[in-house]
Order: sequence, then structure tokens, then C-alpha cells
Amino acid sequence: MEYDKGADTMARALALISGGLDSILAAKLIKDIGIDVIGICFKSAFFGYESAVKMTEQIDIPLKIIDFTEQHLEMVKHPKHGYGKNMNPCIDCHAMMMNYAGKLLKELDADFIITGEVLNQRPMSQNKNSLDIVKRESGYEEYILRPLSAKVLQPTKMELEGLVDREKLLGISGRTRKAQMELAEKWGIKEYPSPAGGCKLTDIGFSARLRDLLLHDENPKLEDVEMLNIGRHFRLNDRVKVMSTRDESEGKAIINLLSNGDYVFYALDFKGSTIVLKGEPNEDDIKVAGEICGRYSKGKDEKKIKIKYKKHENDKYNIIEVVPAKDEDIKQYII
Ligand code: SF4
Repeated sequence: MEYDKGADTMARALALISGGLDSILAAKLIKDIGIDVIGICFKSAFFGYESAVKMTEQIDIPLKIIDFTEQHLEMVKHPKHGYGKNMNPCIDCHAMMMNYAGKLLKELDADFIITGEVLNQRPMSQNKNSLDIVKRESGYEEYILRPLSAKVLQPTKMELEGLVDREKLLGISGRTRKAQMELAEKWGIKEYPSPAGGCKLTDIGFSARLRDLLLHDENPKLEDVEMLNIGRHFRLNDRVKVMSTRDESEGKAIINLLSNGDYVFYALDFKGSTIVLKGEPNEDDIKVAGEICGRYSKGKDEKKIKIKYKKHENDKYNIIEVVPAKDEDIKQYII
């Protein structure tokens, strides 16, 4: 991608594109006042960039995708400013994205950074105090402009120095999305996801699984985090977690994420889920995993069925006979 600004262009902004509506509106607003805009979006273990690609196409700006999976996962384990309603550390996450964008300013010959943040839209991560913290923590405080709320915030260096005309910026604040919907309508932006809809860290079920994982493993591997997206999860005890897949594609996906030492279980004479056990199981744990395996197989109504299991890296299976679990027996384990 060519990022040469050209002699005629007044200024260039890097727009953080989340894939939601607000960041696209901010980028479009700045583009329409004659400033060159390059979109920047991020990929992590918890969100992708597909929506950002679709959204930037609608306003015709280039998009640079940054994979910060490892650094983002490290931050999610111990966010300096804590979590939001679920496991979403939005203040640290925004600051981290802005820091990455800030480091790109020189390389992309850009003058400042814009974001779609709206004052008081989210009570915890977008109140005045949080917006100030994000700016400060990013390390690029002076270079950050929030076009949608600029008129209800202190003027930035970009406005004071005449790089951006403050009069052309907006003063949106609060939780209502009326102004954003009207702008989307006016600018013909038709397809957009719900706010924060693409981030798994805001999902209550995913957050429960992630919390459980971090409680039992301070430094989980990326594969273990990716497994949180697959199937049903059961915490048997502090030593052992069991997962059961819901269809063939999940079965294939989970096998690709296994590490040596993980166990796999299958019903011997019936079709059914792939069951994965992670941890250091004793005999009882193996039996319960076998019973769960029986429950999620076509043999779930049999009196007894045979289950084969092995460590992922081994060739040879062991066989046990179990009574398939009833739903009421295993609901206590569901994460
Ligand atoms: S919703 Fe997710 S992607 Fe967005 S700032 Fe919060 S943690 Fe980051």
C-alpha cells in the first residue's frame, strides 16, 4: 500500500477503526473536511478486523491492519486500569491502540490520530476522566483528536494550531445514538454492527471462561485462549477442565489447538462430540470426562457405553466403560 501524502495534501490523520459505526463517522467527518485519512485497525485473540475492512470500504479510505495478539493478551491478563462490566479492559486497550498508532505517525507521514470515542457514551470507559487517562497513557496525548465530541472537550493542539477547523467538528455526548444514526443516514453508511459487538471481552459467557482460565493458569497459551471459543466448557476441579465440541467443525478446530499432555476422549461405538481434557487428571476425573463424553454421544441413553481416550501425543487408546452422564449431574461443572 502506498502512503505518500503528496504535496497538495494539507494534513493526514490516522483513524483508529474499531469496525463499529462511530470510528467510521469520525474518519468520514475528517476526510470530508479535506484531511487525508488512513484507517488503522487491530487483530487480537478477542477481535478480528473483518468488520473494519467492510466499514472502511464504505467510506473509501485505505486500511492498515496490525496484529498485536501477543501484547494485547499480556495486557488483558493484568490491565492497569481494570476491567469494565465483563473482561473488557477498555481503558488500557484504547491506550494501547493509540500508542501503536502514535508509533506509526512518522512512518505513515501523518500528523495526528483520530478516534470515534464519544464523551459519556459508555459510563466507565468514555467518561471525561477515562478519556483523559487514555490520552495520557497512550504516550501521544498531544496528537489525539476525538472529532465526534471535540466541541465538548478542550481544544487540541491540532485545532489551536489551525490544522483542523474546530467549527467543522462535532459536540456529541451521552448515551443516545440519535446523532450517529442521523449522520450514518446522511452519509449513506448502511451496514454497521452494534457498538462493541465484535469484541469477545464484552461477552458475558466468554468472559466467564476467560476468568476461569486465568484463575487456573496465570500464563495461558494462545491456543488455550482460542479454545474458549469452542464448544461447552466444564470445570471439574482446580486440576481439570473438560471441553465438549458441538459439531464436526468444532471437533477439527479443537484438535488443531491441542498441546502435548492434553487428553482426547471419543465414544467407541457411537458418533458424538470430541471431548478434550486439560490438566492433571486422577482416575475419578477420567471417569467423569468419560461420562461427559457418553452424554454428548448418540449412546447417551444406553445403560453403559465404552469410551476410548488417550493423551494427544500418544498413539494407543485406553478403554473405559461408563454410564453416560445426565444433564443434572454435569450442570454443576458448566463454566
Ligand atoms: S470493547 Fe474490546 S476492543 Fe473495544 S476497547 Fe474494550 S476491550 Fe478493546
